[in-house]
Amino acid sequence: MIRKLVLTFIFVIALFQFPRIPFADYASALDTEGWKIIESKYFTIFCHPEINMEKLNNRIAVKFYDDDWGRYSPKNKSVDKQVAEKFDRLFRKAEKILDMYPRRIHPIVKIFKNQSQLDKEYAKIFSSLDGKERISFYVHKYTTIYTSEAAISEGVIAHEMGHAIADHYFLILPPDKVGELLSQFIELHLEE
Ligand SMILES: [Zn+2]
Repeated sequence: MIRKLVLTFIFVIALFQFPRIPFADYASALDTEGWKIIESKYFTIFCHPEINMEKLNNRIAVKFYDDDWGRYSPKNKSVDKQVAEKFDRLFRKAEKILDMYPRRIHPIVKIFKNQSQLDKEYAKIFSSLDGKERISFYVHKYTTIYTSEAAISEGVIAHEMGHAIADHYFLILPPDKVGELLSQFIELHLEE
């Protein structure tokens, strides 16, 4: 009897822990034909075809030196590779700040060229436009971070990474306010 209860308990936890969306749904929700795809260790990053990669790369500054970043040199590395490494570095930093290391997490990042494209994507996903301007957002259903070349920065990325981390760490989704607190905490300590 106890064994059965334990098994049921584990099964229920597993259900909450690993919500999976079939890839076909991902693909159609992504709608990224012609986009550049950058694979990093922790992310699959989709860049809108109009994006200037140099500009994008320059907008993401990684200023902390608490592991081996001090010895890092972008020399001889393509811009795409530099962007990928920055994302991975920021992710490790975000996890470290929260001391939360969820397993089985590989978020997608979708970077648009400008704010109006990002607004349209938001309206498409949530079937509504509430008039609020969001420079970035995270959608748990698709494990995807959305932002734009115009708005991206290390703080914006790290903030949204925080949402992805929190949403994959707890057995049930944390309340929005708790997720927001954790993300703001990351921004606050990003440069330490
Ligand atoms: Zn937030």
